[in-house]
Amino acid sequence: MKVTALGVYSAFATGEYQENGLYKPKWQSNFLIEFNAKGKVRDSVYRFVLDFGTDIRHSLMGCGLKLADIDGWYCSHPHADHIGGMEGIALSTIFNPFWNSVKVEWLKNEDGEMDTVNDRLFDSRHIPNEAKPSLWGHKSVLDELWMAAAPGLRTIQGVQSVSLSTYFDVHPMKSNENYIFQDGDKTWEVDTVLSTHVLAGTALMPSYGLRFRSSQGHNILFPTDTLWMMPPNMVGFYKRAQVIYQDCETGPKSGVHSHIDDIRMVDPAIKKKCYLYHYSTEPKVEEGEFLGVLKQGETHEY
Ligand SMILES: [Zn+2]
Repeated sequence: MKVTALGVYSAFATGEYQENGLYKPKWQSNFLIEFNAKGKVRDSVYRFVLDFGTDIRHSLMGCGLKLADIDGWYCSHPHADHIGGMEGIALSTIFNPFWNSVKVEWLKNEDGEMDTVNDRLFDSRHIPNEAKPSLWGHKSVLDELWMAAAPGLRTIQGVQSVSLSTYFDVHPMKSNENYIFQDGDKTWEVDTVLSTHVLAGTALMPSYGLRFRSSQGHNILFPTDTLWMMPPNMVGFYKRAQVIYQDCETGPKSGVHSHIDDIRMVDPAIKKKCYLYHYSTEPKVEEGEFLGVLKQGETHEY
């Protein structure tokens, strides 16, 4: 499993022009995770993206990839730096007749020529799941995601009934359930981890990170946006994880992210497992205090 930090910055961090006139972007905190397995797009790799913010098409390009190169998308919670790329992903893949070989075959008519996607949808024919990217997320998050994206997606010219599954092979995830990803000779069990991110009165925004555990004993934790060690049972996940990709706020405390001042107070054994990211400016830490301060484009193999 290869993890690439597509971006490491907080939602509204903006890049800057350098003295040489070149623009240095600050992409949102989304990850590319690649498995050594057959994908929907390529036979040699399954590409999974953990969160897809408004700038995802640009941050992917930093790795030479386009939206159409991704096999599966995961959404942790419905903030724009995690779901803002949704409309671009959905529209640019559904109308791409060459998205993968299954789609090309599906579009071939009796004369061996290709019909358009729109013609097929107009005839109420559903795109086969193998010809659509997968969309993963906790069921409660996918409901919110559709609410946020539906105004731009629920109408397709000439098509009567449109839902998330018109565009995606949808995988609503349940709590306390494992989902399997093959990766060469490794098997990864992936489950959702409830995090406390935003409390609005008595309502909690649905927000779920991911935990990846391998057949060889790896335990990699992505709480995503989260209050520090909340809910309290999160402590157990932090203790058992080998590596934690840790939300780390560096500006004034917003009350919805883990702040560097709070993270620095914790058990040093946990700090040594944390890669800090989702900052507006790089956090100031001591040498060896953390596993690292994650940089844009950094990759790790497990
Ligand atoms: Zn958020």
